[in-house]
Amino acid sequence: MDLPIANFLTQQRRHNTEMMAVANYCVGCAFCMLVCPEEAINVLGNAEIDREKCSDCKRCMRYCPVEAIRLVE
Ligand code: SF4
Ligand code: SF4
Repeated sequence: MDLPIANFLTQQRRHNTEMMAVANYCVGCAFCMLVCPEEAINVLGNAEIDREKCSDCKRCMRYCPVEAIRLVE
């Protein structure tokens, strides 16, 4: 893959992950942390997503029992 395309994909990935947010009604169950393939989530009270590690797979969103990980406009 040549460099300009790689740069575009990196920027696109960061753009997408910036749209994910953890709501304050997160109950700290850590399911999202357990299912994340990139080890991008830490749960210390509420879940926190490391945007540099996140691959934007959205698995955490699908598994959260209270739908606390959302896409925001
Ligand atoms: S979107 Fe995927 S990689 Fe990113 S934090 Fe959620 S589970 Fe992890
Ligand atoms: S799965 Fe949902 S409720 Fe559980 S720690 Fe993650 S964001 Fe919070």
